[in-house]
Amino acid sequence: MSYDWQEFRHWAHQISDWASDYRQNIKSYRVRAVLKPGSVLKKIPEYPPKSGESMDTIFADFKNIILPNITHWQHPSFFAYFPANASPASVLGEYVTAAMAVNSLLWQTSPAASELETRMMEWLAYGVGICTSETPKRFQGVIHDSASSATFAAVVMMRERVFNQLGKDANKDGLFHGPVLRIYGCEHAHSSIEKAIGMAGIGRSNYCPITTTGEHYGLNPTLLKDAIERDLAKGFKPAGIIASIGSTGIGGCDNLEDLSKIALQYNLFLHVDAAWAGSAMLCDEFRVLWQGIEHADSLVFNPHKWMGVHFDCSAFFVKDPKELVATLGFEPEYLKTNITQDADNSPAIDYSKWSIQLGRRFRALKLWFHIRTYGLDSMQSMIRNHVAWASWLGKQIQDHDHFRLTSRPILSMLSFQASPPGVQDIESFNHQLLENLNDQGSIYLTKTIFQGETVIRFQVGSLETRFEDVQQAWKIICKETAILTQKH
Ligand SMILES: *Cc1c(COP(=O)(O)O)cnc(C)c1O
Repeated sequence: MSYDWQEFRHWAHQISDWASDYRQNIKSYRVRAVLKPGSVLKKIPEYPPKSGESMDTIFADFKNIILPNITHWQHPSFFAYFPANASPASVLGEYVTAAMAVNSLLWQTSPAASELETRMMEWLAYGVGICTSETPKRFQGVIHDSASSATFAAVVMMRERVFNQLGKDANKDGLFHGPVLRIYGCEHAHSSIEKAIGMAGIGRSNYCPITTTGEHYGLNPTLLKDAIERDLAKGFKPAGIIASIGSTGIGGCDNLEDLSKIALQYNLFLHVDAAWAGSAMLCDEFRVLWQGIEHADSLVFNPHKWMGVHFDCSAFFVKDPKELVATLGFEPEYLKTNITQDADNSPAIDYSKWSIQLGRRFRALKLWFHIRTYGLDSMQSMIRNHVAWASWLGKQIQDHDHFRLTSRPILSMLSFQASPPGVQDIESFNHQLLENLNDQGSIYLTKTIFQGETVIRFQVGSLETRFEDVQQAWKIICKETAILTQKH
């Protein structure tokens, strides 16, 4: 397999030009693709080519087949799910990472990658305030591919901690002779939590979702205690609490001060899932939402969501890396190096022992490019703007007779329902409204169930979003609601 590096150089330039144009003209695309499932598949040959094709042909096919049938996550009117951003500086970082293609599984396989990762995790910890100059190592971090992996790692840590306390080792012997473990979280928590509990062999039915309450829609601590007591009475073994800061459905935040007291009282591991909302903690004024975070055993947040770093990049922090390495670390003969790592402060870290995967991409580079290019200041002002615009929208919804604000804005996320007078079936009206909004192409929203009803979610989180885009979105929502009301 030979490659012409002149050809590579040529195409690398072409593709950078294309990428700049694409991102600058992204508003000309429909946010959510509209196509029938299978229509892309039909355009791609069933069998691989026998001999190579030119990049001219390949890239033309990309433009004709892929680009028109993609949902544009970097669009400023992407208000669906949560954002998955990609700042230009972090895209450049990804490009260098792709070109170098090093594997940062051991310190020795990529020393600078490992050490940059250490420093980037320190920068992030300082940035969101979980470490300070007085408490520089309160948490130590590692980059995972996703919050799902980080939460899975945390659940396995919980399991091992309980088993070790009982003189057992589930990693080694399995779960066969241990107690039934129970893990608690809020009713709106992300599905990755239940999935992790299933994958850890604890059993998905041993996840106990607790009803939420209060101004920030956090889980009710009294109900949590009741659930723990009930489980203890049945002979089950409570193992941990997974707190949500910015729950997926409506952005709810559990009260970490309350939960950490309960964790202490019942000797439970406390993991915090702040995948989306963690980035907001770059701003001092939002840290009240995770007051008590210093009591957590572990936490995850995704710089690739709201902080703007290219997807994927998930920051997993633990209080005690030794406990993490005891759970995930593995050292077969072929991975042993002669680098000493036993000292507590050894800078030579093999991050594969902190991760689920063995082979690891050099993700720290894009973080470095991103944070240095924008600085904390501009990330903070972006987040503050998004929060202010969501609050503006919340007010419009509240003041309009044809709408109901179903959950108050938390940071930059809210939910609502259209409820025009005269419409009987609000549920199907909102399903249809959401389809119409997304089909008209200029905005993209998604839904969830809250308090038994379908509600439309709205979050502001794209790097490119301006206040005009949020104002425009509100106009479109009003217009489509009026059109649909007339048809009823
Ligand atoms: C996005 C999100 C996840 C899942 O994150 P991945 O990185 O896609 O696995 C988990 N929890 C919360 C609260 C999220 O917002």
